[in-house]
Amino acid sequence: MNQEDLFKKLIAHSKEYGYIFPSSEIYDGLGAVYDYGQNGVELKNNIKKYWWDSMILLNENVVGIDSAIFMHPTIWKASGHVDAFNDPLIDNKDSKKRYRADVLIEEELGKIEGKMDKEIEKAKNRFGDSFDEKIFRETNPRVLEYQQKWDDLHTRFAEALNNSDLVELKQIIEDNEIVCPVSGTRNWTDVRQFNLMFSTEMGSTADSSLKIYLRPETAQGIFVNYLNVQKTGRMKIPFGIAQIGKAFRNEIVARQFIFRMREFEQMEMQFFVRPGSELSWFEHWKEIRIKWHKALGFGESNYRFHVHEKLAHYANAAVDIEFKFPFGFKEVEGIHSRTDFDLSQHQKFSGKKIQYFDPELNESYVPFVVETSIGVDRMFLQILSASYCEEEIDAGDGKKDIRVVLRLPAPLAPVKLAVMPLIKKDGLPEKAREIMNELKFEFYCQFDEKDSIGKRYRRQDAIGTPFCVTVDHQTMEDNTVTIRYRDTMEQERVPISQLKSMISEKVNLKRLFEKLM
Ligand code: ATP
Repeated sequence: MNQEDLFKKLIAHSKEYGYIFPSSEIYDGLGAVYDYGQNGVELKNNIKKYWWDSMILLNENVVGIDSAIFMHPTIWKASGHVDAFNDPLIDNKDSKKRYRADVLIEEELGKIEGKMDKEIEKAKNRFGDSFDEKIFRETNPRVLEYQQKWDDLHTRFAEALNNSDLVELKQIIEDNEIVCPVSGTRNWTDVRQFNLMFSTEMGSTADSSLKIYLRPETAQGIFVNYLNVQKTGRMKIPFGIAQIGKAFRNEIVARQFIFRMREFEQMEMQFFVRPGSELSWFEHWKEIRIKWHKALGFGESNYRFHVHEKLAHYANAAVDIEFKFPFGFKEVEGIHSRTDFDLSQHQKFSGKKIQYFDPELNESYVPFVVETSIGVDRMFLQILSASYCEEEIDAGDGKKDIRVVLRLPAPLAPVKLAVMPLIKKDGLPEKAREIMNELKFEFYCQFDEKDSIGKRYRRQDAIGTPFCVTVDHQTMEDNTVTIRYRDTMEQERVPISQLKSMISEKVNLKRLFEKLM
């Protein structure tokens, strides 16, 4: 299956099985806004718990907060968002479609990478075991030509971004003959800046109303609470403050499902450190965060670091963790060394001293900050796309069938266990209810007695339930059930009394945390 088809199937599957619905669907939807359904909300909560506990439980010096979405408007002036939270936009005059100029160029870079990969793949097949990719990359004239093209474009692009040179961005698009994917033409407008913040008004009368913004990131809620937390928690540097919450951005191009939304959720942690130590803490968090992703078992080669071409005005180091989505490697998380920019700015704009007295150094300073920032929704998409799987299986009588299964990591799966009476009589449903009533306090169980057992298994495979337990006539005699494993489809007979410990063991988030230590 090609990646485009896979992505389409994933979107359809998410809707069919109660993971994600387009927002306001009966009114034909609202651009780049989505709702999470009955299974989606469970997976989302589990992702948040995995992140939250990994921050709060595993780090003695990280605490959480939950700040309001509405904040004093001067915060966004101080942070630089009012003046500089812009994306460069460009329109195609024929299709009337709007694009982010930087994304168009990044996609062009991706295409060149794709061509190189193809050459390498072809050579790999031709030479077999004797193939040396490094030598091939350094000597093959075609690959060298592509590499030169990529390097030239990349250098020019990084320079244009760093200088916020909009004329040059347009020139790059023209020189590289980048066309609109819809109209196929190169009839472009000039590149303009577009501020991504949504604004609204607070207050009941026109004169007293205050223009406020929906926060475009949760981080500022942490910065403005730095003093409160440090004092009331008697926190000693280095320490971190974590927060999960909604953020809003009026994204120019809203494509790729929940990858880029206008209302989304972030999980951010700001780690306050002594000035001068920030780059070693940056390395520290980089390693911790990539481990957190890899612990899910989706394969090492599906992750990579991407160093920023353009550093934000506040940063002295920045890296993205990218995951290989069906539409290519894309950012899921950013790790940024934000210097003392934010706290200094708030100190300046609020007139309040925001400093830390370091007893070891016997001096006060504005702490430096290393942040880790990840989108819940992008993480959700990472997990869905890595877990979705279609398999050919035996359907009996020599026939084949396709089984759709979500191979979700068990600790994140919405439903952990489905309890199924084989038939709806002979006391089997009552016995199944008994088991369910015993286990439902431990983890999320579902009772399922409709349709044939095969159909029920399929339904649970499709939502990623790792375990199904079937109650049959033998259960009534010896208190054993069959447990069926989602990934292998193997079944085994076990005593009811062992179910709790067997399943708890596998679905506990501890299984993931152990890999982080
Ligand atoms: P991009 O370059 O893709 O626009 P960004 O660099 O602006 O992302 P950050 O400001 O670093 O993103 O935000 C941190 C994280 O928040 C991102 O890594 C991503 O997971 C998430 N995020 C940002 N914008 C969106 C969005 N529009 N929809 C969903 N998640 C988002």
